[in-house]
Amino acid sequence: MTFPDRVSAPVVRQPGPDPTAERILLSPPDVGALEESYVLNALRSGWVAPAGPDLDAFEREVAQRVGCSHAVALSSGTAGLHLALVALGAGPGDVVVVPTLTFAATANAVVYTGAEPIFVDCEPATGNLDLDLLHDLLRDLQLRGRRVAAVLPVDIFGSCADYGRILPLCAEAGVPVVEDAAEALGAVHAGRAAGSFGRAAVVSFNGNKIITTSGGGMLLSDDAELVARCRYLSTQARQPVTHYEHTEVGYNYRLSNLLAALGRAQLRRLDEMIARRRRLRERYAKLFAVVPGVRLLADEDEGSNCWLTAIVVDPAVAGWRARDLADHLGALRIETRPVWKPMHLQPVFAGARSLLTGAAERLFADGLVLPSGSALSERETVRVLNATRQFLNGR
Ligand SMILES: *Cc1c(COP(=O)(O)O)cnc(C)c1O
Repeated sequence: MTFPDRVSAPVVRQPGPDPTAERILLSPPDVGALEESYVLNALRSGWVAPAGPDLDAFEREVAQRVGCSHAVALSSGTAGLHLALVALGAGPGDVVVVPTLTFAATANAVVYTGAEPIFVDCEPATGNLDLDLLHDLLRDLQLRGRRVAAVLPVDIFGSCADYGRILPLCAEAGVPVVEDAAEALGAVHAGRAAGSFGRAAVVSFNGNKIITTSGGGMLLSDDAELVARCRYLSTQARQPVTHYEHTEVGYNYRLSNLLAALGRAQLRRLDEMIARRRRLRERYAKLFAVVPGVRLLADEDEGSNCWLTAIVVDPAVAGWRARDLADHLGALRIETRPVWKPMHLQPVFAGARSLLTGAAERLFADGLVLPSGSALSERETVRVLNATRQFLNGR
């Protein structure tokens, strides 16, 4: 039987004959023997469905990790954001406040509901929501009588937004907060875990995130009623009777039991994976500490889960652009990425209202995300660091 081999094939890291020929990826999945055994056990248990004991356990374990009382596992983080907004009643005529520096999923979820996203710029130091702008915007919207269905702060690259200010600010305006913690599982802010802030929070288990189910997400909240409503909406809004009765339009957003098993194995390794990413960040920090005009994004956040490490290059001081380093590393088959392209620059959101300072545009122009994965081997890490040194020495 070839099946088990096929399961294990992608998780074996082949040394390969020519190390320089292997492409080093930004944040590939980090899976191995533990994941293999969890998924095989789930498969053999017969629970090959969007229901089962691994799914229930995964919800309990993530909720416990985050310090929330309720969770519903979903097919993606995007689905979680969508359901949270639906449960909060977001719809046509409403506005939802979204950071302009984020992945498109945050804004897409708003559009699915018929509400209008309004984009707000970020703090240059962290890339997280600019709270002076948020304050002004909420006051302005209130004066104009607009209903704000939610504020969706994003914990960018695994660094929590400043909830110590966001929560009171939004509470005063009577606006619920939905934390987009898609990138931040395992991060901590003021002693509390990412995924525990606001009325509800959403984490993602997409293939590139800190832990993965290959695709998946989870909605977390202390509000039992809200989570029950999201669970009901995620399973086609089926009434609790045997003959498939529906009084509302629902969605098919549940995670499969097999993928939940993968998630449980990954969750067990979360701290180890964060530690690996953190050590990598420290090595980048040391390398760039002596380079004028270069800083690490959110480098003062000790609670970050270090999902992605990004540098920000001031070309006037450094004498080179982020793009130059990207080209150098790219030629050596080392993947880098620009920081998220701001939503207000995206053609699809061209007509949207935005409150801007230019900070997100500058991070897009001058930022560069470096290989940050926990599966990066020591040899690969040294290859990235040496290639970067080589670039810096050539300047
Ligand atoms: C990944 C991500 C999402 C979406 O998660 P999926 O599971 O891929 O749907 C949402 N918001 C942010 C900020 C993300 O990085």
